[in-house]
Amino acid sequence: MTTIGFIGLGNMGIGMASNLAKAGYEVRALDISKDAVTRAVEAGCVAAKNAQDAVKNADVVVTMLPAGRHVELVYEGDDGVFAHASESTLCIDCSTIDVATARKVISKAHSIGLEMIDAPVSGGVGGAAAGTLTFMCGGTSGAFEQAKPFLDIMGKNVFHAGDAGNGQVAKIANNMLLGIHMIGTCEAFNLAEKLGLDAQTFYDISSTASGQNWSMTSYCPAPGPVPSAPSNKEYKPGFAAAMMLKDLRLSQQAAKAAEASTPLGAMSESLYSKMEEMERDDLDFSAVMKLIKGTL
Ligand code: NAD
Repeated sequence: MTTIGFIGLGNMGIGMASNLAKAGYEVRALDISKDAVTRAVEAGCVAAKNAQDAVKNADVVVTMLPAGRHVELVYEGDDGVFAHASESTLCIDCSTIDVATARKVISKAHSIGLEMIDAPVSGGVGGAAAGTLTFMCGGTSGAFEQAKPFLDIMGKNVFHAGDAGNGQVAKIANNMLLGIHMIGTCEAFNLAEKLGLDAQTFYDISSTASGQNWSMTSYCPAPGPVPSAPSNKEYKPGFAAAMMLKDLRLSQQAAKAAEASTPLGAMSESLYSKMEEMERDDLDFSAVMKLIKGTL
């Protein structure tokens, strides 16, 4: 039987691991939170006592962790994945982390003869539970092809973005653009309203004109025009402003290292930092509308 070690069973990991278990794999679940492991067992996984238990003789290891330092610790620590994996184990890190750490950990995997890819996701907790995530993968073509059948179970769209770390590059560049056009959309609605144009009228015009974009038509930050948007549910997330800020910080860290000019990315980071300072970053990221209007 194909065996999968799954490490990191938080908001995202639990849905992903449970979909792998439902597909008939033996999923050995490991988390530092006992409650998270209990939830995974209830969802059809087997509890792993430690990294050795999760990883030994596993065909695949999947990780879904908060940040680069957790990924480094889980893979490279004395009692980590690399210490216990066999040569045929494929490692898939689905966490959103900084590009440099992703490349460093994958390079370490290669140096000990293991295949590994970075495979961050978009689609949120709902997508993880429903198995409809988008995966953006970096690594060799061989490792990508080996990982794809497993990613197809957890997701709907699976892309190979190129070499190691390129999945993270795709993810942070996309989310930087998302942050920028969300803020731009908020500014446009606010300006229109201040000058006497109601949100619905501006939406009807701009959504069929050149200002049209995803933040406007799928996720409108002004209440009214898009009924399913968080703006109609008191900006309950959705995709929390704190998560957007995490991705913007990663984008700015990477932009600095690559000497890429991203002035609007930097401005977006600073606006979402204000939501953090005001302790309102638990709201959906479209609540930056309230910051722009001065009502946060
Ligand atoms: P989370 O905090 O809910 O889950 C992370 C889990 O990792 C926790 O259960 C934690 O106990 C566990 N963990 C931490 N250190 C560990 C260790 N050393 N060993 C074992 N387990 C450990 O986070 P999440 O919302 O599930 O997000 C996970 C990743 O997915 C993050 O990188 C995030 O940026 C990314 N992501 C999240 C979303 C979202 O909507 N939540 C969307 C896309 C991407």
